[in-house]
Amino acid sequence: MPPLIYADNAATTNVRPEVLEEMLPYFGPEYGNPSSLYSIGRKASLAIADARERIARTLGAKPNEIYFTSCGSESDNWAIKGAAHANASKGKHIITTVYEHHAVLHTMDSLKKEGFEITYLKVDSEGLISPEEFEAAIRPDTILAAVMYANNEIGTILPIKEFAAIAKAHKVLFFTDAVQAVGNIPVNVSELGVDMLSLSGHKIHAPKGIGALYVRTGVRLGTLIDGGGQERGRRGGTENVAYIRGLAKALELAVAELDDMPRVAALRDRLAREIVKIPYSRINGSMTHRLPGNLNVSFEFIEGESLILLLDMAGICASTGSACSTASLEPSHVLLSIGLPAEKAHGSLRLTLSHGNTEQDVDTILEKLPPIVQRLRDMSPLYEEIAHKKS
Ligand SMILES: *Cc1c(COP(=O)(O)O)cnc(C)c1O
Repeated sequence: MPPLIYADNAATTNVRPEVLEEMLPYFGPEYGNPSSLYSIGRKASLAIADARERIARTLGAKPNEIYFTSCGSESDNWAIKGAAHANASKGKHIITTVYEHHAVLHTMDSLKKEGFEITYLKVDSEGLISPEEFEAAIRPDTILAAVMYANNEIGTILPIKEFAAIAKAHKVLFFTDAVQAVGNIPVNVSELGVDMLSLSGHKIHAPKGIGALYVRTGVRLGTLIDGGGQERGRRGGTENVAYIRGLAKALELAVAELDDMPRVAALRDRLAREIVKIPYSRINGSMTHRLPGNLNVSFEFIEGESLILLLDMAGICASTGSACSTASLEPSHVLLSIGLPAEKAHGSLRLTLSHGNTEQDVDTILEKLPPIVQRLRDMSPLYEEIAHKKS
């Protein structure tokens, strides 16, 4: 087996050793329930308070504005449903975008069934939305806008600071799914001026099963889980102390190492430059407003799924669109949203790099990918026909 090249960091990331080390005591001697009054309970409670404070400091928030959840999807659900329900008396209109993560889009589906009206902002061929388009969608009965900071498939970064200022001027609550932005670009809730922001541990080298939601003081948000009063009465359930510790450590490390991102972007740019030399290929999404580690390419005449399997056999982990759309075999809603026809969206490849990736990884991908694309095309009758016409 060749050494594994992991180029799917938007799907999940490895747990860093420092993060695991921070968590281990809470699987061992520090097993107290944070709500208990004796000393190991109090120690667990202090461990959570310390983690909350570190996360708040890193994001530019106050500690009591940070809520721990079990994942990014839970944070997205809570922010949107919680704000919609708490503010329904003011109006029932919500703004979002066509290319949000399914944790947002499917949440909107369930609110629609409850009588909320949703406007889906379209994106241009680069995946961008202008502040003017955002402002034009606001109505007198708009209560909430949910716009992702960075897209998980094509890496597009949206002007969230401008959007949040516009929303504020119209007294509309502003939530951003920052799951892909955190750890890849600077994220500071005070500078951004957002009301709510979600993040997820496993996208920033913490384990799967921990997330957080920032809720600005004063924002009305319904309770998510009725229970024993944890998370200031808004999200019951005994806290996941170990994972909370891991999230704090991972976030601190991610922010401390943001200066490695120009290196990651340079690796990505080299991949992009070389991969577009493959005939009938195109890069999807803006190259300027883009996450440093993200590359998304479409190859005509091939199926992304076959490409992923052959890359896997060559020791390379990559994905078509997002991990979620891979399972459903539907063409990616994100690629369709930027105007790709379904057949081109099917032949897409997402490579997402992080701190662990090296120049050698790029060399190997560039060595293995073009012959695999060619091999798949050689089996395509359509390609055969077109290549024949040309020669
Ligand atoms: C991964 C992801 C989520 C979901 O996070 P989970 O922790 O896996 O539930 C939500 N939004 C975006 C943009 C993501 O990339």
